[in-house]
Amino acid sequence: MFMLWIVPAAVVALLGLLLARAFRLRPAPPTEEPERPSGPHPERMAETLAALVRCATISHEDPDRMDAQAFDDLHGELGARFPRIHAALQREVVNRHSLLYTWPGSDPSLDPVVLMGHLDVVPVEPGTEGDWTHPPFSGEVDGGYVWGRGTMDMKGTVVAVLHAVEGLLEEGFSPRRTVLLAFGHDEEVSGQRGAGAIVALLEQRCVRPAWVLDEGGAIVARPPVGTEVGPVALVGHGEKGYLTLELRVTGEGGHAAMPPAETSVGILARALTRLERRRFPVRLGQPVTGLLTELGKGMPFVTKTAVANQWLFRPVVARMMARAPVTASLVRTTTAITMVQAGTKDNVLAQAAHARVNFRILPGETTACVTERVRRLIRDPRVRIRTVGLHWDPTPMTPLASRAYATLSDAIQAVYPQVRVAPNLVNGATDARYFTRLCPHVFRFSPLVLYPDDTGRIHGTNERLSIEDLGAMGAFYTRLLRTATGEPRI
Ligand SMILES: [Zn+2]
Repeated sequence: MFMLWIVPAAVVALLGLLLARAFRLRPAPPTEEPERPSGPHPERMAETLAALVRCATISHEDPDRMDAQAFDDLHGELGARFPRIHAALQREVVNRHSLLYTWPGSDPSLDPVVLMGHLDVVPVEPGTEGDWTHPPFSGEVDGGYVWGRGTMDMKGTVVAVLHAVEGLLEEGFSPRRTVLLAFGHDEEVSGQRGAGAIVALLEQRCVRPAWVLDEGGAIVARPPVGTEVGPVALVGHGEKGYLTLELRVTGEGGHAAMPPAETSVGILARALTRLERRRFPVRLGQPVTGLLTELGKGMPFVTKTAVANQWLFRPVVARMMARAPVTASLVRTTTAITMVQAGTKDNVLAQAAHARVNFRILPGETTACVTERVRRLIRDPRVRIRTVGLHWDPTPMTPLASRAYATLSDAIQAVYPQVRVAPNLVNGATDARYFTRLCPHVFRFSPLVLYPDDTGRIHGTNERLSIEDLGAMGAFYTRLLRTATGEPRI
């Protein structure tokens, strides 16, 4: 008789536990909307941004192909437009084009905070110039927007940071903690000579930043998980690793009329198929825990219950995440076959066939592990595998239980009260990864508002930034500098 009660009692207890955990994922009660903190004048910021867009600071892999004049012009614009910064801050030019500003704090015992940015932009794809509403380097201000290459990525942010500092200097503000502004010049081509060199310089000087903020996250109208949640500020607290492998098969070649049983192209194709069929395993670890917990608060009840009870529903949540490419990229090392080359003529057997496969590596794995797994999956000694180009391991994850993260979230919510703040894993590469050598508190976020139709604008056609959003960015950095530089603890 007693045994009969055990099953229903257990079911009730389990349900109770599931619901209790789901209820804990509750959004914070709405607060009265506070007045937006003041910041620099949006129209003036727009003029500065337009002037910087007109300096076509396109970066090239080959440093000799950099347009030195464009960078000099940009430096000149900064000197002319920010007189207080250039009087009160120490300015250093690193590797000819990068800039490092030091705003000394009143308490030299405190480690500095670093605000990062990059001055370079990607080129405009030849043949697409005519598709732009306004020429990409004309810096047109029209219809409430500043148009042009680099407005979103990321001269708008640089302008917002500098106007915030200039405004604070104007009102006589002096930071307690030293502030470093580190603006690289080659982020779009690896960042080694810019941010890499700045970090090497700071390391030499034994500078250990308290925390660092670079681009890498933005305010998105539709978050990657739970699109019904509403706008979210995604703060990058880690970055995936990067690796490209070349797979090469060499064969006999010869006349296509007498082909062997297996051609170099066939062998390569089979290797590629194996890689695509046996994707890397899905891992629901630390990189997405914070994101799921935060976004879970705004999800419908059933999804919220699954997210809040991953000890039970982990396979369901994992399957949910693996379904779409955007969420899958957060929970696994991705495999992308990007280039295939073989053959010269339709009646000649290809002597060599090669392909390139790009991997974005999940924290917890390494470039060496990825290469080893690829070898194991292909299991064919005729396929030669080698690493090409730059490669790096994932960065360590930035801890979120810190005053720094709280201060950053507070500044976001002060300026964007309707926006939820959530940590995120960054898929692309940013200059911030160089700083992880010096400091564990590295965040990737700039308050760029990405609207649904903005997807193709960054690195694409018709890049633009609204003057209103630019103004809010200025208010954000003003607020952040005011609070972050006064905090004696991290
Ligand atoms: Zn960028």
